[in-house]
Amino acid sequence: MAEVRVRFAPSPTGELHVGSARTTLFNWLFAKHQRGTYILRFEDTDTERNRPELVEPIMESYRWLGLLWDEGPYFQSQRFELYRQHAQKLLEQGHAYKCYCTPEELEARRKEAMAAKRNPRYDRRCRDLTPEQEQAFIKEGRKPALRIKAPSTGVTVVDDLIRGRVEFDSTDLDDFIIQRGDGRPTYNFAVVVDDVLMKITHVIRADEHLNNTPKQILIYRALNYPLPVFAHVPMVLAKDRSKLSKRHGSTAVSEFQDRGILPEALVNYLARLGWSHGDQEIFTIDELIQHFALEQVHPSAAIFDEEKLLWLNHHYIKSGDPKKIGEQVRAFLVKRGHMSESDAQAVPSETLAKIVDFFKERNRTLVELADSASYLLKDSISYDPEGVKKFLTPDKFPLLEGLAIAFSDVPEFKTATLDHVARGYLETKGKTLKDVAQSCRVAITGRTTGAGLFETMEILGRDKVITRLRQANTLISQASREN
Ligand code: GLU
Repeated sequence: MAEVRVRFAPSPTGELHVGSARTTLFNWLFAKHQRGTYILRFEDTDTERNRPELVEPIMESYRWLGLLWDEGPYFQSQRFELYRQHAQKLLEQGHAYKCYCTPEELEARRKEAMAAKRNPRYDRRCRDLTPEQEQAFIKEGRKPALRIKAPSTGVTVVDDLIRGRVEFDSTDLDDFIIQRGDGRPTYNFAVVVDDVLMKITHVIRADEHLNNTPKQILIYRALNYPLPVFAHVPMVLAKDRSKLSKRHGSTAVSEFQDRGILPEALVNYLARLGWSHGDQEIFTIDELIQHFALEQVHPSAAIFDEEKLLWLNHHYIKSGDPKKIGEQVRAFLVKRGHMSESDAQAVPSETLAKIVDFFKERNRTLVELADSASYLLKDSISYDPEGVKKFLTPDKFPLLEGLAIAFSDVPEFKTATLDHVARGYLETKGKTLKDVAQSCRVAITGRTTGAGLFETMEILGRDKVITRLRQANTLISQASREN
């Protein structure tokens, strides 16, 4: 069999949607599984809807997901000459013809047909123009579009790898335009010319293009090229079974990135969305490549389940390398407004890794981790007034001071040592950790909840811990003077 070549062809009219990312992933996994080539092509011929500024963000989303392309990116807007040559060939071979009807005339006839309850397709009036009729149109200065000659009878069969055999009645096929009067190709034509020139063997794309496929097959036949294999991937729907859109929450890949989802979690989630391999839920990329098969993609629509994505994200946060996760948390400390860029850069990697370890059981996203971590990393402290009132009471004053002294000269400011030294000191005072733990916590963090007390101290470091224990005692003294 020839080398497998697939493509993904986003139109830069919006950011990369998760549904498109999933179709891309299926293309990519199929290519990797087959040791084939994956091509990126931007379909940017629609000058009205195109947003060139989105090309880079779309590629950035692909890079973030790890879906790197082997060839491209190609831009259809730079390939008009190729489409023109192919359209010309079809014209010369009698598979296409010039149509001089203006958009206004077409629209008027379409409305007329609709009113008379007739099929509003093109009435083929330019298909057999006499040379005189043509000359008359040219004299009027009309610029012809090119239309393909569609058959009037029979069926066009799409043998789809996911959907199976789908038949389209050829009588529904219009003599559709392949090149507009201004020389621009139409979508279906440019797709086929590119798929042919790029030697695409498998066209794997969204279900919503299935209706375009019989038209494209017609173009393949007219150009006398063999058909690729088609696989139409079912839609991704929201829980209410409508098309997944903004009103359901995040839809762009970049939004998931901003919400602190890990790329490996999103890839794993999207792969399992409509595809399965037994009951397995968690897949490494290598496992996905090894097991992925288009034949196992479910032909019905898949429902996007936010909770499951979060569950997977949590799995990757818990099982990932804390240092690597910590590095990703660093960016969120800035994005969430907890720290300046330079302060965030100054936090040691080991500290971030420890923080990830502390919070990973209860935090499901990088955003949650950054929010949980911020109080441990900031220079300033903000006190919870309730906590202060309840736990920073005069009876704690000597204990907090005693601990500050005890901690001043511990050789290593590490969790286990601090725990040992604190318990030892408290014992000499006839107290236990329970008597002072919450007061200590409020003193050093301002809060009544958080990571383990001594782990927190290790992260804060000796200077902050001792300063804050004493600062708490100043608060206690002030409060007792005021009362
Ligand atoms: N440009 C099309 C889209 O963004 C893809 C068409 C195709 O894959 O054939 O939906």
